[in-house]
Amino acid sequence: MENELQNKIDIKSLLLSELEEYMESIGDKKFRAKQIYDWLHNKLVSSYDEMTNLSKKLIERLEKDTELINLEVVDKKVSEIDGTAKFLFKLKDGNIIESVLMKYKHGNSVCISSQVGCSMGCKFCASTIGGRIRNLSPSEFLDQIYKIQKLTGERVSNVVIMGSGEPFDNFDNFIRFLDLIVSENGLNISQRNITVSTCGLVDKIYKLADMKPQLTLAISLHATTDEKRRELMPIANKYSISEILEACEYFLDKSNRRITFEYSLVQGVNDNIDDAKALSKLLKGMLCHVNLIPINPIKERSYARTQNEQVNAFRNCLEKHGINATIRREMGQDIQAACGQLRKSYIENV
Ligand code: SAH
Repeated sequence: MENELQNKIDIKSLLLSELEEYMESIGDKKFRAKQIYDWLHNKLVSSYDEMTNLSKKLIERLEKDTELINLEVVDKKVSEIDGTAKFLFKLKDGNIIESVLMKYKHGNSVCISSQVGCSMGCKFCASTIGGRIRNLSPSEFLDQIYKIQKLTGERVSNVVIMGSGEPFDNFDNFIRFLDLIVSENGLNISQRNITVSTCGLVDKIYKLADMKPQLTLAISLHATTDEKRRELMPIANKYSISEILEACEYFLDKSNRRITFEYSLVQGVNDNIDDAKALSKLLKGMLCHVNLIPINPIKERSYARTQNEQVNAFRNCLEKHGINATIRREMGQDIQAACGQLRKSYIENV
């Protein structure tokens, strides 16, 4: 994991085995790697000076060879309604990303970003308006969780990769991040407590199914015909709904893990009862669950939110047809917790 700009090793993105190789390559003891890994991924320190069991000489060497990625909090907003906290982080190159901490009865969940911006172009989404600026490194995925845990003192038990960006468009870094976060020498979060959301990059669904089948896969479907989906999501020009569903069947075959389909309800576009019937038909017989997300309107588009009554009718129709469905509980509505909104307003105001 070389940092392209400075050619330094991005140490927080290294697996323990790679850190061991590095220690041996500089003529040091292999066991030191475990100590350093523990400081980075368990004790969550931000500097080498805090690693009190390392010699001064080794610290100097580490400072010369490596770069220690630390996100800097530039804003934090806490919802007065439900305690949801949104964090804006500044990256080394000045880019801004956002992450959200949600507190549930079953534990704390952090929603992280996977890219700065996004190139997928979904019409209702604020994250994609300025396009994709760059991919996040594995260390930048991780440090969103680490810093939130440090800042709040709250143990994070669940991770959702559902913030800004398309994780499957940054697949290798996403996979490396997973290897690090599930490591028993790090935060040791079980794959089963991790959910990744994709707009449906079919080739990567197959790839993930072959690699990490114990995660929860969430698919942003949002429409029941390819024609309607193309209106909302440019990725629908590349992959059809039937190709996505076939890939989901493959994932299910490998994992036996229930798939989540996200369906953002846009007034007058995809929220009709006939849409609900069509959705039930598409998903019939599949081990899955539908998460309805009443759209969070963004100022750049004229899409409107479906009325609550219609949202309930949509859900009831799915349930009547045997499809398990929930309405996404709105967390942090008072703090612009929807995808990319806080980042955008921050950038616009500085
Ligand atoms: N790129 C991934 C993850 C990011 S978005 C994906 O497409 O799944 C997480 C979910 O929020 C997606 O289902 C996305 O379509 C949805 N979303 C984005 N902006 C929204 C908005 N303004 N209102 C409702 N849902 C939105």
